[in-house]
Amino acid sequence: MEKSYCTAVVLAAGRGNRMGTEVHKQYLLLAGKPIVCYSLQVFQESDIIDEIILVTGEGEEDYCRKNFVEKYGITKVSRIVTGGKERFHSVWNGLRETREDGYVFIHDSARPFVDEEMLSRLYEIVRLDKACVAGMPVKDTIKIADKEGYAARTPDRSLVWQIQTPQVFESALIIEAYEKLMQEKDRLAAEGIRITDDAMVVETLMNLPVRLVQGSYENIKITTPEDLLTAEAFLCHYNILE
Ligand code: C5P
Repeated sequence: MEKSYCTAVVLAAGRGNRMGTEVHKQYLLLAGKPIVCYSLQVFQESDIIDEIILVTGEGEEDYCRKNFVEKYGITKVSRIVTGGKERFHSVWNGLRETREDGYVFIHDSARPFVDEEMLSRLYEIVRLDKACVAGMPVKDTIKIADKEGYAARTPDRSLVWQIQTPQVFESALIIEAYEKLMQEKDRLAAEGIRITDDAMVVETLMNLPVRLVQGSYENIKITTPEDLLTAEAFLCHYNILE
């Protein structure tokens, strides 16, 4: 089958409050390299990805161009756009710059360990199913809590996945889904629905099932300080860190 045009929208506009550092988490150094640069380099070297749109915080565009894009030779970055208040605002700003043909890989820059094999698995499935996301089956038992902090339900663990990025969609589909979201976001907020990933937008507003594709247990999102230690341990194990 002929190769389709693929765009990576890389999100780096979060403030990372849970990390408790002055520097945004995606700009922190991991083994001497900014976290955001790990996934940018994977997309740069990928045979699947043709173009990268980098979404950064307001006023950080030049800093990112100089210190990440130019310094690490990420020539596939065609645009650096400003993000928004919530993750979905940032995604929308990235999607508005995206071509309507082909596929979009939406990725959290706080996940440095995406790899080419994962991109391949996702690309193969998105061409069949139009919408798929990386994830892994959970290892722990998961409880749904009630508002008082008691265990209300225990879903069947064999059906529970933790969801990661990349989240991959037909470009026209995800653009339409986000157009609908921007019209309906106030109603959803009033109903207490908080949009935390892109699959949710497609499931809720396009009524289309989203296929779950194996990511990896290394594909963690660096969110709190201990995640940095875990990430360093992975790098040591794979002999990247001396
Ligand atoms: O906040 P959370 O951990 O879910 O963020 C996931 C990713 O989305 C991070 O890479 C972060 O930089 C990005 N993000 C963003 N714009 C926001 C919030 C988060 O680009 N307003």
